[in-house]
Amino acid sequence: IQPTALGAQPSDQSFVKKLRSSGRSLVVFYGSQTGTGEEFAGRLAKEGIRYRLKGMVADPEECDMEELTSLKEISNSLAVFCLATYGEGDPTDNAMEFYEWLQNGDPDLAGLNYAVFGLGNKTYEHYNEVAKYVDRRLEELGATRVYELGLGDDDANIEDDFITWKDKFWPAVCEHFGIEATGEDVSVRQYRLTENPEVAPDRVYCGEVARLHSLKNQRAPFDAKNPFLAKIIVNRELHKAGDRSCMHIEFDIEGSKMRYDSGDHLAVYPTNNEQLVNRIGELLGVDLDIIFTLTNTDEDSSKKHPFPCPCSYRTALTHYLDITSNPRTHVLKELGEYAKDPKEQEKLKSMASTSPEGKQLYNQWIIQDNRNIVHILEDLPSCKPALDHLCELLPRLQARYYSISSSPKVYANTVHVTAVLVEYETPTGRINKGVATSWLKQKQPSEPDFPLAPIYIRRSQFRLPTRHQTPIIMIGPGTGLAPFRGFIQERHIAKEEGKPVGDSILYFGCRKKSEDFIYQEELEEYVKKGVLTMHTAFSRDQPNKVYVTHLLEKNMDEIWRVIGENNGHLYVCGDAKNMARDVHNIVLKVVQEKGSMSEAEALTYVKKMEAQKRYSADVWS
Ligand code: FAD
Ligand code: NAP
Repeated sequence: IQPTALGAQPSDQSFVKKLRSSGRSLVVFYGSQTGTGEEFAGRLAKEGIRYRLKGMVADPEECDMEELTSLKEISNSLAVFCLATYGEGDPTDNAMEFYEWLQNGDPDLAGLNYAVFGLGNKTYEHYNEVAKYVDRRLEELGATRVYELGLGDDDANIEDDFITWKDKFWPAVCEHFGIEATGEDVSVRQYRLTENPEVAPDRVYCGEVARLHSLKNQRAPFDAKNPFLAKIIVNRELHKAGDRSCMHIEFDIEGSKMRYDSGDHLAVYPTNNEQLVNRIGELLGVDLDIIFTLTNTDEDSSKKHPFPCPCSYRTALTHYLDITSNPRTHVLKELGEYAKDPKEQEKLKSMASTSPEGKQLYNQWIIQDNRNIVHILEDLPSCKPALDHLCELLPRLQARYYSISSSPKVYANTVHVTAVLVEYETPTGRINKGVATSWLKQKQPSEPDFPLAPIYIRRSQFRLPTRHQTPIIMIGPGTGLAPFRGFIQERHIAKEEGKPVGDSILYFGCRKKSEDFIYQEELEEYVKKGVLTMHTAFSRDQPNKVYVTHLLEKNMDEIWRVIGENNGHLYVCGDAKNMARDVHNIVLKVVQEKGSMSEAEALTYVKKMEAQKRYSADVWS
């Protein structure tokens, strides 16, 4: 088996063996999709040393999880789980097998000491469902909960939730095992730096996600570890006026052997803004073209490097590291060590502490004022961290997802997305630009040189009914329209082919008809052809707001006819925070009033619709 770019050795699955051979007793598993769960796990494992529990981070996908039954053979052993919940209450890909094992198996976990911290988002209906289930199930299987379940809410301040939980978790662990904190500080580097390693220039990574040269020598199959470098062949503005921008982008996937269905997501690996990257080099006085390698000092770790190494500092900051989100408290703590001005040092240390004042300062100065690492280095000029240390601390830059807005039945060789440009002013007067959307915005095709973007397709559960006759209601204000464009294209084709097609009813909303009514002409054409029924809400075209939800409330009979009387499907896409929740409540009301059900019956009815995939949401916040 080939080691991956991060040095993982997939054959080595015994975590108990690893713990034993390295004298450790704490293992922190993570279920992570975007890296936060993994980061929290890393922090807990590192802190264990303060409490005489030498720790190790582990990916459940790379471990033989049945060994949880024998972990008790190691004295004072503890398993912690940092688990994220996704979509409809699902575990992350890497925790799926473990989750199913817990659900379907009946292992005897007596003697296993454990604690769970969940990563979720209150905006979504199935808030932290995975962590709640695992916490409950481990107890059912006989394991001992050492400290209560922690729940992190990414819609509020998940860093605060985590450090608050952690602050009580460690004393509970000490009490459980009868140990005393060593007070030892944990500012130890996880990775060792080698600058200018002796490697041939063609062994240096240039932004590949995993395999060296994978962007130059493209080989199918393409996926998250091996993205396809697609040509952007169309990138046009959809807004007719106003100061916002919404892009219609077409990616050419011909020859990639990638297939997609309407409702799937396109993942894009973006590149950080060049000026921001250069600014870090300037602020720290470092030549960004130096080649370096970071190697894990923990030889037992399956992750030898934090990102593909060797590479230049420029590559790391451009392709591998997240330099635009708000840094977490442990990063500030380490930065504090580098600040020469005592006031600046004090500020950083305070924000990294769990005192009420420190938390409040962090919340104000970092979260509310929306500072990223560049802003922090600018505003605390005496703080000059070693760049390699910063590279160790910053999280990985993540791929961005977009709901595909085309149907493969019409566009087999291109994938379309509909993306709103993110750009806003922060309270400190700076303009923050969304990493992916501002990068995509620059990618204007001009033949013969098409701009390229690393992409892959992520399957979703958001699907049209199998039978074309089934009526559907689609609710998608703003960019929420995206997947429905694909759905409508597909139903249109079916109709053209002479197949019987059920009602397709769209609820679309935007601010002003003359500004951001995206795909207006296409949609009106479908209406004219009798393929589509469209209800529109232009929120800012009159003194009072009109939203799609207001229209839904007026059309309760139509909704019940589709979902209640004709076994139709209802879809909602776009803003998870308010809109999707409001829609859910209206659907409940429809079922209750038009279906003559009690509140409890209506809830059961809607749950059943969800289970049968007759009520599906594709939402983001
Ligand atoms: P980032 O650099 O990631 O910045 C975004 C962050 O900036 C936000 O999370 C928020 O923290 C902050 N922010 C943004 N606006 C403000 C503000 N006004 N004030 C303060 N802070 C702010 N997007 C689409 O446009 N179309 C789609 O079809 C689509 N589909 C999606 C499907 C899924 C399953 C998911 C998860 C997301 C989808 N998104 C879609 C969102 C998309 O993935 C990106 O999050 C979005 O494009 C922003 O990415 P970015 O890199 O440009 O911005
Ligand atoms: P948008 O233009 O902001 O909104 C579309 C329409 O929906 C507007 O008319 C808006 O009205 C209306 N609306 C607001 N609240 C509503 C509610 N509770 N119910 C029904 N309609 C409502 O849409 P968008 O720019 O496409 O973005 C859609 C959502 O996706 C945004 O809410 C945003 O949170 C999210 N998004 C996030 C990112 C990101 O950076 N993570 C990127 C893109 C989009 P008013 O504006 O007049 O109130």
